[in-house]
Amino acid sequence: MTNKEIGSKFQELAQLMEFHGENPFKIRTYQNVYATLRKLNEEVGTLTEEQLQSIKGIGSAVAGKIRELEDHGEMRTLRKYQDMTPAGVQEMLTIRGLGPKKIRMLYDHLQIESVGELRYAILENRLLELPGFGVKTQEDILQKIQYFQEAKGQFRLATLDVVAERLLTRIKAIVPEWEGQPTGDFRRRMQVLSEIAFLVPTVQLKQIGTWASELFTSYQQSNGELAGIFDEIYPVRFYGADDANWGSELAKTTGGHMWESFEMPAQPFQSEAEVFNALQLPYITPECRDLRIPDYSTFDPDALIRASDIKGMIHVHTTYSDGINSLDEMAAAAKSSGYEYLVITDHSKSAVYANGLTVDRLRNQWDAIDAWNRNHAFTILKGIECDILTDGSMDYDSDVLREFEVVIASIHAQLKMDEEKATNRLIRAIEHPNVHILGHLTGRLLLSRAGYPVNHQKVIDACASNQVSIELNANPFRLDIDWTWIPYACDKGVRIAINPDAHSVRGYEDITYGITAARKAGLKRSECLNVLGKQDFIDYIRSK
Ligand SMILES: [Zn+2]
Ligand SMILES: [Zn+2]
Repeated sequence: MTNKEIGSKFQELAQLMEFHGENPFKIRTYQNVYATLRKLNEEVGTLTEEQLQSIKGIGSAVAGKIRELEDHGEMRTLRKYQDMTPAGVQEMLTIRGLGPKKIRMLYDHLQIESVGELRYAILENRLLELPGFGVKTQEDILQKIQYFQEAKGQFRLATLDVVAERLLTRIKAIVPEWEGQPTGDFRRRMQVLSEIAFLVPTVQLKQIGTWASELFTSYQQSNGELAGIFDEIYPVRFYGADDANWGSELAKTTGGHMWESFEMPAQPFQSEAEVFNALQLPYITPECRDLRIPDYSTFDPDALIRASDIKGMIHVHTTYSDGINSLDEMAAAAKSSGYEYLVITDHSKSAVYANGLTVDRLRNQWDAIDAWNRNHAFTILKGIECDILTDGSMDYDSDVLREFEVVIASIHAQLKMDEEKATNRLIRAIEHPNVHILGHLTGRLLLSRAGYPVNHQKVIDACASNQVSIELNANPFRLDIDWTWIPYACDKGVRIAINPDAHSVRGYEDITYGITAARKAGLKRSECLNVLGKQDFIDYIRSK
């Protein structure tokens, strides 16, 4: 082992001990070993016991541990602390600049056990309630974990969209006549993906090739393809094509599950429309090419939901619970974006971490909503995101629940459940007579936290028999219900509510990712809940 490797083991030990609140003197000793070893000229493995112990800061205990590492590649004390620390916490400790003290506080106060949970807690502003954590600290930590996670090679679509924009600005400075087009998983709008891809005219691919060393951290070129790493971590791929085979190459590089049922025509085509024509199919929208439908010939691209079809924003938080913007600000923003109505759904009373609403504070909010509605030509509906408690009961009595115009039921706590427990918990909530919409069905956070396991079929069936709509949570971290289950829900007649779960005015923009996921599922306008105009929406909700 090198001095650096050995030093890192001591550093890890010191961090774990600090997390567990051990003797600060010992911790300091182990912290110093790292610095000491890094300064040594010779490798410690070559030193005798005596030489080792003569180094300032290395006593017999430390020397013994170094020997252990040299001889067995392992240190028992370190193993002991690793075993008593959740894996997610150990991962958090490897994020530079976060540190054991902060992690301990997050663990104790917010039960945060993984990088994913931490990331999401920041997005919900939950760190602000802790001493020493301000908006600045939150942002700082968010940046650190963003880099940490994405360095692992998987990205959320929303992240790559931003990167792609930055990349295109650079490219267009080099290739002003840029005619590239997105392709691959990126064009099919996969929610988690490993690269950005473009189809590019061969001439322009050559131009990019000439500038590759300026554009990319590293790159490779072969067979009319160029693959590079942009901004140190983001993989980008360019495929070359010409007018004569543009359509065929675009269809081929876009890919998708549908090509398991269809053979790509051998003859080259200029446009994708011609490719589908040759197959006697309607034009299959790129994001829909992963659909597993028995008969693609009935596919109607014009029936697919579009962002402009959405009439109302459902599932919005304000400063009454854990949102950043006030009720007035959220309402004004929804109104000026042209929506007809807004369903404000702050957290219910058990969600203490999110400043959940007591019945008294609810009444204040309702007064504020009434006042707004009197003074504006725009309707706020009184909603709630009501916690589903551990046993599946709701967080308010029915008397209170009845007073809301819209009730979303969501699970936020006690997420560790087996499939049966989770499924029953959800179904009990769905069967509650005052529940209208089931919020983020599995609780998953993409690339951050797996959801609890659920029997989707049973949950969807229960929604169908109780006229409960299912939310497609549009937050790019959630996109929950998973799009692959939407066709089944629609078959059963369940309406899909595409909800931003906005915690700020900016959060409204997430709706586009919900629309994308819905389109991937082939969701038709008529199958969505919030395409209904205000009165139709109210009538539909009340008809339960
Ligand atoms: Zn929620
Ligand atoms: Zn929410």
